[in-house]
Amino acid sequence: MKYINEERINNLLADTAKFDSRKLDAILEKAKSLQRLTLEESAVLLSVKDPEYIQKIFKAASFVKDTIYGRRVVLFAPLYISNLCVNKCQYCGFKSDNSGIKRKALTAAEITQQIQWLLKRGHKRILAVCGEAAPAGLSNIDYYVQAVKTIYSIQVGKHRIKRVNVNCAPLSVADFKKLKASGIGTFQIFQETYHDQTYRAMHVSGPKSDPDNRITAPDRAFEAGIDDIGIGPLYGLYDWRFETLGLLSHIEHMEQEFKVGPHTISVPRIEPAEGAELSFNPPYKISDEDFKKVVAVLRLSVPYTGIIMSTRESALMRDALLSLGVSQVSAESSTSPGGYSDKREVNAGLPAEKAGSQFSLGDNRTIEEVVASLISHGYIPSFCAACYRKERTGKAFMKLAKPGTIKGKCSMNALITLKEYLDDFASTPVKDAGYKMIAHYFKQLEPAEQEMLKLFFAHVDSGLRDEYV
Ligand code: SAM
Ligand code: SF4
Repeated sequence: MKYINEERINNLLADTAKFDSRKLDAILEKAKSLQRLTLEESAVLLSVKDPEYIQKIFKAASFVKDTIYGRRVVLFAPLYISNLCVNKCQYCGFKSDNSGIKRKALTAAEITQQIQWLLKRGHKRILAVCGEAAPAGLSNIDYYVQAVKTIYSIQVGKHRIKRVNVNCAPLSVADFKKLKASGIGTFQIFQETYHDQTYRAMHVSGPKSDPDNRITAPDRAFEAGIDDIGIGPLYGLYDWRFETLGLLSHIEHMEQEFKVGPHTISVPRIEPAEGAELSFNPPYKISDEDFKKVVAVLRLSVPYTGIIMSTRESALMRDALLSLGVSQVSAESSTSPGGYSDKREVNAGLPAEKAGSQFSLGDNRTIEEVVASLISHGYIPSFCAACYRKERTGKAFMKLAKPGTIKGKCSMNALITLKEYLDDFASTPVKDAGYKMIAHYFKQLEPAEQEMLKLFFAHVDSGLRDEYV
C-alpha cells in the first residue's frame, strides 16, 4: 500500500519490546510541550504495558487536550443519505451482497424531512454518509452535491445547518472540486486498515478493493482545494498498534506533501452489522483498555488534530474517552437512511436490518441527554462552525491550533452556541445546569473576552441566532 512502510512499522513495534522508563518520561515531556511526536516515539507509547505508566500517558493526554481544546466538545449528527453500494466490504451491512436490508437512497424531499427533524432537535452540524452508488440516472458526485445543497437550503424558524461534512467514496480531483463548490466542511474517509494483505482480504470486490486509490483520496481532495480532511482506521480488522502507526504514517505523508495534517481523526471500532458475519467476530478485536490507550497516544502524537468519537461507543466509554483526547462526538445518531423519522420504529425494537441500518449503535441517548451528560462532566457542548465560516481551515486553522490560541475563541463560541441551544431547545433542568455552566466559564475569561461575550449574549437575548466570534 502506498505511503505505508510495513517493514518500518513492524521493526518499530519489535524494537519497543524493551521498556525504558527514562525514554518514556522524555517523550511525555515533549508531548506536553505540544510538539508533534515522531513515529518512533509514538511506537514507544503504544508499547507501554505497565499500568502505572499507562496512567502517566493518560494524564499527559488529558493535559494536552485541556491545553489545546479547553473543555469544549463539538456535537454533530450523521445523516445516512443512501445505503446503495457496489462494494463488498466484509464488515459492513451495506455491502452489495447483503440482500437482507432494505436499500434506499433518500430523495431531496426525504433529506428535507430528515434535516427538519434534526433542526427541530437543535442539531447544527451534519456528517452526510453514503454507500458508493447513486440512484438510477445520477452520477455519484451529482447525487452527493444535490444532497449537500439540499441540507444547506433548509430552514426551520431561525435555524439552519451550519456545516455539512461528507463521508463518501474516493473521488477524482474534478469531482472533489464539485464537492468543494457545494460548500462542504470536512471530507472524511477511513482507510479501514493500513495492512495491505488485510485490506485486500476485507475488500473483496468493487472499486474499494484498490487500497492505493483509497489512501490517495485525501491527496486528490487537497489538490481540489478541500483542506479539512478526516481520516482513520476501522479498529478490529488488524493489530491496533500496527493500525495506529499506519495512520500516523499516513499523516506524515500528508504533512510532508501538503504541509498540513488531517483536520480530524476518527477511531471507529467494528460494531455488529446484520448480514456482515465478520462484524460479529472481528479478527483483531481491541479491548476497552487498549482503545483508551490508542486515543491517548493519538492525542499526544498529533496534538492539534481533532479526535472524533461516534455513537458506535457506549455512553460510559465515550465519557471516559473525552478526558483522554476526544474533541467531537456524535449525538442521537441513526445509521439508516431515513432513520430519524423512522426512529420510533427503530426504538420500538425492530431489528436493524428492517430499518436498513449500517450497524447497531452502542449509545442511544438523545441529543439533550448527551448535552446534559457533557455538562454534568464539566464539558461545554459546542454547536460552533465558526472556523469554517471564517475560513480558519487547513493551514490557517493549524496556525491557530498549534500554539493553542484557538482555545479562547472556541471557548467563547462554545458558550454562545450553548446559550442558543439552551434558549431554544432544552428542558428546564438542562437549561438550569447549562446556564450555571455558562456563568462558571464566563468568570474564567479575560475581561475583554467577557465584554465581547456580554455583547453576543445580548444579541442572542434579542432573538439573533448563529452568532460567533
Ligand atoms: N461508503 C463509503 C466508504 O466506505 O468510504 C462511506 C460510507 S461508510 C458507511 C463509512 C464508514 O463506516 C466506513 O469507512 C467504515 O469504516 C465504517 N463501517 C463500516 N462497517 C462498519 C461496522 N460494522 N462497524 C463500524 N463501522 C463500520
Ligand atoms: Fe459500501 Fe462503504 Fe459499507 Fe464498504 S463501508 S460496503 S463501501 S458503504
